[in-house]
Amino acid sequence: MLDWLTLDARTLLQVSLLLVLLNAAAFALLLPSLADELKPSARSWGLGIALQWLGGAVFAHEVELAAYLPASALTAFAHLAALAGMSLYVHALRRFNGLGFHWTQALPGLVCGLAIVFATALDSGLAPRILFTSLGLAVLLVMGLRLLSTDTPLAPRVSRRVLRFALATLALAVTVRAVHVLIEPPQVSALVDIGRGSLVLQLLLMCALPLVGTSAFFAMCSERVRLGWESAASTDFLTGLPNRRSLVEAAQQAIRQTRARGGRLTLAILDVDHFKRLNDRFGHAAGDLALKHLGSRLRALCGEHEMPARAGGEEFCLLSRDSAPEAVAQLLTGLQRSLLDAPFEWEGEQVVLSFSAGIAGLEADDGGFDSLLGRADQALYAAKQQGRQRVVVARPAGLQAAALAWDPA
Ligand code: GH3
Ligand code: MG
Ligand code: MG
Repeated sequence: MLDWLTLDARTLLQVSLLLVLLNAAAFALLLPSLADELKPSARSWGLGIALQWLGGAVFAHEVELAAYLPASALTAFAHLAALAGMSLYVHALRRFNGLGFHWTQALPGLVCGLAIVFATALDSGLAPRILFTSLGLAVLLVMGLRLLSTDTPLAPRVSRRVLRFALATLALAVTVRAVHVLIEPPQVSALVDIGRGSLVLQLLLMCALPLVGTSAFFAMCSERVRLGWESAASTDFLTGLPNRRSLVEAAQQAIRQTRARGGRLTLAILDVDHFKRLNDRFGHAAGDLALKHLGSRLRALCGEHEMPARAGGEEFCLLSRDSAPEAVAQLLTGLQRSLLDAPFEWEGEQVVLSFSAGIAGLEADDGGFDSLLGRADQALYAAKQQGRQRVVVARPAGLQAAALAWDPA
C-alpha cells in the first residue's frame, strides 16, 4: 500500500530529525524576539521539542546504540522522552494561558512512564510499551486541546485553531497506532523495524508538533502580541473602559446599522462636576481613583446593548442601542443617586462624586456621529448651566426645548 515510500526507514527518520533540528534552531533564534511575558511558555515549548528530538534520535539509532545499551532500555528511553516532551508542550500551553504548574499535568507522563519502566523490566515486549505511551500521549493531547479551547483574555483565534487541528490529528494518530498494536502486536524488538504503516504514524507523532505545532505556537505568540497592542490602542489605561477611538468606531457602525435596520440609538455624555476642585483638595491620585470608581459603576450599569467609554479627562460616554433617550436618562439618574448614596473613600474621608449628563437620540437629520455627539454635548452644557448634578435630554429641535430629566432638588 505504501510502495511510494521507497526510502529506507532509517534515512526517512534521519531526514525528519534533521528537519526538526533545523526548525528547533530557527525557534531558538527567534525566541529572544518574543515579548518577555511569552518567554517562559516558549522555553517550555522549546524544551519539549528538544526532548522529542532526543527520543526520536535514540529511536533512529537504536541498532548502533544497542552495542552500548540493551535495546529494550533504548526503546523505553525513546518512549519516556516522547511523554516528557508532550508534558512540556502542555506546560507551555498552560503558561500561555497564564496558568502555573499543576501536579495533574505531570500525572499522565509519570504513571505511563512508570508503567513503561515496569514493562521494560519484565521484558514484556514492544506492544505494552507502545500502548502505555499512546495512552499517556492521548491524555496529554486532550489536556492540550482543552487548554486551547479555553477562552482567556487576548486568546489568539486563527493560530489557536491551527494548533488545535494539529493536536487533534495527533490524538487520532495515537489512537490508530494503539488500535493497530492491539490488533496486530509487533513481533520485533526495535521500533525502527515495526513496519511502514506504523512508521508513518511514528513519523507523524515525531514531527507534527515540532514542525507544524511549533509554527502554530509561534504564530500564537505573534497573534497574542498583536491583540495586546490592539487592545491597548482601544482601551483607556486608567479605567479599563473602551477609549474614545473605540467609542467613535462602535458609534459609526451602530449608526450605519440603525439606519439600515431601524431602531434607536442613544448617546450620553457624562462629565464629573467640579473635578478640578476634587483634584486640588485630595490630590491627583484621589482624582484617578474617583475616575476608576465612576468607570466601574458605569460599566456595571451596562447590559449587552450598552457600551461605556472614557471619552477623555473626566468625561465618560454611554452608547445605547435599542433604548430611548428617556430610558438612558433614567439609568443615569439611578447611577447619580447611587453615587450620592455610596461615596467613595479616600484616606478615611468620604468623597461625594457627582456628574452632569447630556443625552441625545439619533435623529433622521443627524449627519453622523459628530452631529449626535454635538447635540449630546449641548445638552451637557445645558446641564452644567442649570447648576450641575443633573441629566438633560436634547430634544430634536435643539437646546431650547431640552428637557430636564432629573433635578437633585
Ligand atoms: P465642571 O463641573 O465645569 O466640569 O468643572 P471641572 O472642574 O470638572 O472641569 P474642568 O474642565 O475645569 O477640570 C477638569 C479637570 O480634570 C482638569 C484636569 O486636571 C482633570 N483631569 C483630566 N484628566 C484627569 C486624570 O486622568 N486624572 C486626574 N486626577 N485628573 C484629570
Ligand atoms: Mg470636562
Ligand atoms: Mg467636569
